[in-house]
Amino acid sequence: MDAEQTATLPTFTIEPTTTPTDAARRAEILANPVFGRAFTDHMAVIRYTEGEGWHDAKVTARQPLTLDPASSVLHYGQEIFEGMKAYRIAGGGVATFRPEANARRFRESAARMAMADLPEALFVEAVDQLVKIDSEWVPSGDGQSLYLRPFMIANEVFLGVKPASEYLFMVIACPVGAYFGKGCVSVWVSEDYTRAAPGGTGAAKCGGNYAGSLVAQAESKKHGCDQVLFLDSREQRFVEEMGGMNVMFVRDDNTLVTPPLTGTILPGITRDSIIRLAIQKGMKVEEAAVDIDELFQGAASGRYKEAFACGTAAVLSPIGTLRRAGGVATFGDGETPGAVSVALKKALTDIQTGRSNDQQNWVHHIL
Ligand SMILES: *Cc1c(COP(=O)(O)O)cnc(C)c1O
Repeated sequence: MDAEQTATLPTFTIEPTTTPTDAARRAEILANPVFGRAFTDHMAVIRYTEGEGWHDAKVTARQPLTLDPASSVLHYGQEIFEGMKAYRIAGGGVATFRPEANARRFRESAARMAMADLPEALFVEAVDQLVKIDSEWVPSGDGQSLYLRPFMIANEVFLGVKPASEYLFMVIACPVGAYFGKGCVSVWVSEDYTRAAPGGTGAAKCGGNYAGSLVAQAESKKHGCDQVLFLDSREQRFVEEMGGMNVMFVRDDNTLVTPPLTGTILPGITRDSIIRLAIQKGMKVEEAAVDIDELFQGAASGRYKEAFACGTAAVLSPIGTLRRAGGVATFGDGETPGAVSVALKKALTDIQTGRSNDQQNWVHHIL
C-alpha cells in the first residue's frame, strides 16, 4: 500500500436529517421499490483537495449539489462509480457483500481516469456509515436489498484539460427489488457499436463507458431485445460483455465459459464470485475467448446449454435468446432458466442473505 492508503483517515461527522421520510411513505416505497427512483434520507460525502488529501467526511441529509458550471466533470467526464448492495441477513442484521473488492476496484478505476486515490478503508467506512443511518431503508422482501452507489466526480473549477485537483466522493442509496423480474432476457448482439478498445477505459467503472453504450442499448430495444451484447473492437468476433454486466455460458461438458479479463472487460465482482462458486460445485471453468459464430452454432447443436449475464444489480440474469442480423441462438427452450444458472444464482444469493454458510468470508456485517 502506498502512503495515502495508510495515512490517518478523516473521521465522519454525522448530521442526521431534520426532515426524514415518514414511516408510512417509506413502507410504501419498500413494498415495491423501483430501481434507482426513490432514495434514502442521507448521503455520505468526502472532499479531496490536492495537497490536503481527503477531508470533511460527513453523513448528512440527501440534498442537491451546488456545482460551478466550470466544474471539470461537466466538461471532460472525470467520473467513476461503484454498485453494491446491503442485504437483510437471515436471523437478523444487515450486511454488504465483498465491499473491499468494490473499494479496490474503485481505486483501479480512479487510477485509470487520473483521479484521486481513495483509501479502501475510507470507502468501506463511508458505505457502512450510510447503511447504519439509513438501516430502516433496507427492505426485507425476497430479492430485495438496499442498492448503494458510491461515486466520485472532479469538481475543480477550471476548463484546462488535465487531471483535476479537487474531487467529491459520495455514496447514495436506494431500495431495490428484483432487477429483470423472472424468466429469461433476450439479447441483441451489436455489430455496429463496440464498448471498449485495447488500451481504453473498458475495465474502469466510469460513466463515460455507459454513455457510449446507450445508443447500442437503444438499438437492441428496436430489435425487440432487452439487452445488448458487445463484441471485441478489433475483429468484431469475440464476445466481450453487456452494457453493464459480464456474460457466461454453460457448456455440455459441465464447463462454465466466460471471456477473460484482457483489459476491455469490466472485472465484475459477481463474475469472480460465480467463478469461485462454480469451481466449488465441481464445475470446470474456462476463462477463454468465445467466438460468436461458434457460440451460435453451439447453441443450435446443444453444446452451449445455458447463457447468463451477471452483475450486482441483477445478480444473475438467464439469457434465453441471442439475436443478430444473421439469426437467433436459443438456449434451452429460450424461456426457462437453465438448471446451472438457477443453482449458481441460489448459491450466491443464499450467501449474500445469510441463508447459507459464508465459507469465503464474503459477508461484511454492518448491523
Ligand atoms: C459494474 C459492471 C459489471 C458487473 O460488476 P459487478 O461487480 O458484478 O457488479 C459488468 N460490466 C460492466 C460494464 C459494469 O459496469
